[in-house]
Amino acid sequence: MSVIAMKFGGTSVGDAEKIRAAARRAVNAHKKGHQVVVVVSAMGKSTDQLVALAEQITPNPPKREMDQLLATGEQVTISLMAMALEEMGVEAISFTAGQIGIVTDDVHTKARIKRIDVRRIRDALENGRVVIAAGFQGVTESGAITTLGRGGSNVTLVALAAALNAEVCENYTDVDGIYTADPRLVPTARKLDRISYDEMLELSSLGASVLHNRAVEFAKKYNVPIHVRSSLNNRKGTMIVAETEDMERIVVSGAALKDRLARITLREVPDRPGVAAKVFHTMATNRIVVDDIIQTTDESGRATVSFTVEPGDLPEARAVVDKLRDDMGCKALYEDHLAKVSVVGVGMRVHTGVAERMFEALAAAGINIENITTSEIKLSCLIDRDQGAKAMQLVHDAFDLGEGGRKTRVPKSAKAGRKKKSSPKAGRAKAAKKSPKRKSKSKKK
Ligand code: ASP
Ligand code: MG
Repeated sequence: MSVIAMKFGGTSVGDAEKIRAAARRAVNAHKKGHQVVVVVSAMGKSTDQLVALAEQITPNPPKREMDQLLATGEQVTISLMAMALEEMGVEAISFTAGQIGIVTDDVHTKARIKRIDVRRIRDALENGRVVIAAGFQGVTESGAITTLGRGGSNVTLVALAAALNAEVCENYTDVDGIYTADPRLVPTARKLDRISYDEMLELSSLGASVLHNRAVEFAKKYNVPIHVRSSLNNRKGTMIVAETEDMERIVVSGAALKDRLARITLREVPDRPGVAAKVFHTMATNRIVVDDIIQTTDESGRATVSFTVEPGDLPEARAVVDKLRDDMGCKALYEDHLAKVSVVGVGMRVHTGVAERMFEALAAAGINIENITTSEIKLSCLIDRDQGAKAMQLVHDAFDLGEGGRKTRVPKSAKAGRKKKSSPKAGRAKAAKKSPKRKSKSKKK
């Protein structure tokens, strides 16, 4: 019998009525003859409320106790959900992570799943029960409760779907699917029918907050297609799937904005081996997460190294970098007025002119590009924060991403002018060199 795994996020189980509505979906799938596993998040904003409660006790809660606390949110929902199903005449049983055996490492508040023992779930399913599993939580080998990081119920969903070899993995949420851009920023954004794992990973690390990245990584590793859809209607959402060749016909799939970024620039840094290693070793040992790194060198034998960090990390980073600056006898500059607009698409591997089109759109509106970074399937520009929303709309329009758009879709037959796969992109090379005299290296960390 086929297994269906479905997950309901916090807003989709926000009150008793919503829990009943979610239960009805599980009942319907069960009546159709499927074995059903339901993963749930904590109700509404209850995880946030638990965090706030802890903050009232201490600004520095021990992480183990934080996990102990936060895991209670999901335990409330699983029991209520099981009750709702029983009330509808369908046998159900709820399990915490400890009861199922979702074993994680012991990195509290962001634990990783090591293995899942699905025997208990299988038994319950074989006995005709709907299984309700607590999302977001795990248990260490020694029995301590862990959590998988905020938004981690998605990780539970995908992990269970993979372990049970589920036929369908449905992620019910409060949005209709994955959009070409955040519809709150770009009203003409369009829902995508499908998107590849890699595009989804890029989009979410570039600012689109839809799915926990680890959930997508897991789905990619085990090739579990995820259907992201609304719990409020029956419309098809977006399938996150393995890449297929025809996906490359679409140049750009979506745009994303990281609306707040800070930049640290080190100037007149000695240009010799080991310097960059020293700078980023220092950042790493101080646990400062570095985003894009750009280094340029010129004939003077001195280099400029700049990198972006979350604005919240800037004060800490600044203290560390000030010391580095004094040690190395260079100059340091700190800025906190930036945003990053990006476009993502697997089609960039084979189509040229992406960089040009994006830069032109920004230039026409007088938006200055402060830095450019690229990967095989993304192109990002650092710009002034005040122009972030405008830049998103411009870029979205430039690639015809909105309703009725897709002029950038190249018909299968129109191969002329296309580059061979894996050949370097001309636009890309141009992007990396701001001035022809400079060697420029950009790298995503
Ligand atoms: N309840 C947890 C959170 O709010 C996990 C989740 O919703 O996925 O982050
Ligand atoms: Mg939540």
